[in-house]
Amino acid sequence: MDNETYKALLEDFTSILYVLAGILFILSLVIRIVHSIKVASIKDYKAKYDYLRIYENKMVWYSLLSFSIAVFLILNTFEKETVLVSQWWFVIRMFITACISTLIGYVGYLILKFYNPGKIQKKLDKWRYMPRISSTGNEMKLLSEEEEDVYLDEGMQAEENIFSVDYDVWVDEITKEIKIEKYAGYLEVLKCGTCTFQTLKLREEEIIKPATDFEDGELLKHYECTYCSSKRTTKHKIGKFLKSEKDFKLPQDYVLKGSRKVKSIMIEIISNKGEKSEFYFQSKEDAARFLEEFEYDKNPVEV
Ligand SMILES: [Zn+2]
Repeated sequence: MDNETYKALLEDFTSILYVLAGILFILSLVIRIVHSIKVASIKDYKAKYDYLRIYENKMVWYSLLSFSIAVFLILNTFEKETVLVSQWWFVIRMFITACISTLIGYVGYLILKFYNPGKIQKKLDKWRYMPRISSTGNEMKLLSEEEEDVYLDEGMQAEENIFSVDYDVWVDEITKEIKIEKYAGYLEVLKCGTCTFQTLKLREEEIIKPATDFEDGELLKHYECTYCSSKRTTKHKIGKFLKSEKDFKLPQDYVLKGSRKVKSIMIEIISNKGEKSEFYFQSKEDAARFLEEFEYDKNPVEV
C-alpha cells in the first residue's frame, strides 16, 4: 500500500471510529437511563423487586460493555501522527488499546461479580421489606414467624436439589387483611462472615426431617461463598405447603418482624486446621441442641 492510500484510509477509519464510539457512549448512557426509568415506573414493590433481581446487574454489565468498547474505539484515534509513520504502529496501537479496554471490562466484571451483589441485595431488601399498604389504606406489618419457616411442595420434597420457598406474610392489624408474597430460596445472597463480601450463595438443601400433615419438618441450607469458598449452614423449619393465600390462617398469637429482637444465633466452629464453619439457628434451644450433639468428625452437616 503506498503512503497516500494508507493516509486516506486512515482518515476514513478514524472518522468511522469517532461515529461508532459516539454511538456506543450514548448507548451506554441510554441503557442506564432506560433502566432507571423502568425501575421508577414499577409501582408494586414485589414487582419492582422481581425486576431488579433479574435486570439490575445485567443492565450495568451491558452499559459497561458498550462503554469499554467505546473506549477501545476512541483510543484507536489517538497518536495519529505516529501511526502514519508505519502500518506496524496501527497494529501495535490496536493491541495496546485492546489490552486497556479488556482491563476496564474485566475490572468492571469483578466489581459486578463480587461487590455489586451486596449493593443489589440492599436494594432488593429495601423493596422486600418496605411496608405494604392494604386495600383500606393502612400500613401493613410483616409477620416474623414466617421468616424462619421455609415451604416445599410435594414435588420439591422428593427432589434432590430442593430449593425452598420463603413466604412473606403481611398483615393489616386493623382489618386483619393478609397479603402473601413468595420468594425463591435460591435467590438469596448473604454476607460472608469471613471475607465480608455479599457473595454467600445457596449451594444445596438437605431435608433432615420431612414435614408431615401434623408436624413441621427440618431442613438444612448449605451456603458457599463464591469469593473465598467459606461455608455456612443454616437450619430451618419446613412448614406445610401453602396452596393458596386462602389456606393461610393468621395465628392467634402472631409475632411481627419488628417486635422480635433476635433474628438468628450464629455458632462459628474453627478446627485446629483453621477451617471455619458457621451455623445459624433461629432459637437458642436449637443452638443448644446442636452443641449438645456436635462432634467435630461429623462436621459440617450432621446436626
Ligand atoms: Zn467469603
